[in-house]
Amino acid sequence: MNAFLKCDAPGCDHRENHETLDASMVDKPCPKCGANLLTQADYDVWVALLPQFELLKSLGVLVDAPVGTPPEHAVSFNYHDGRMNISAPLTTP
Ligand SMILES: [Zn+2]
Repeated sequence: MNAFLKCDAPGCDHRENHETLDASMVDKPCPKCGANLLTQADYDVWVALLPQFELLKSLGVLVDAPVGTPPEHAVSFNYHDGRMNISAPLTTP
């Protein structure tokens, strides 16, 4: 599964892609501003949701975007501080 860490600090646009998230990434500081990129609470939700994303992929509802797909061309799920944001492209590449 493609995953990413995105800095939620105001004015910071740091984003880094990963194959998946793991516990070693909890409390990782943003290389640009030092904010926490992945809190324990956000990681716990990720771990809880992962099997559901895998189920949706096995049903063909979700597919991983090819490596190198620009973020603005892929559907993404971003959970932070109790809010799930889902972004989807309005046009295809
Ligand atoms: Zn940052």
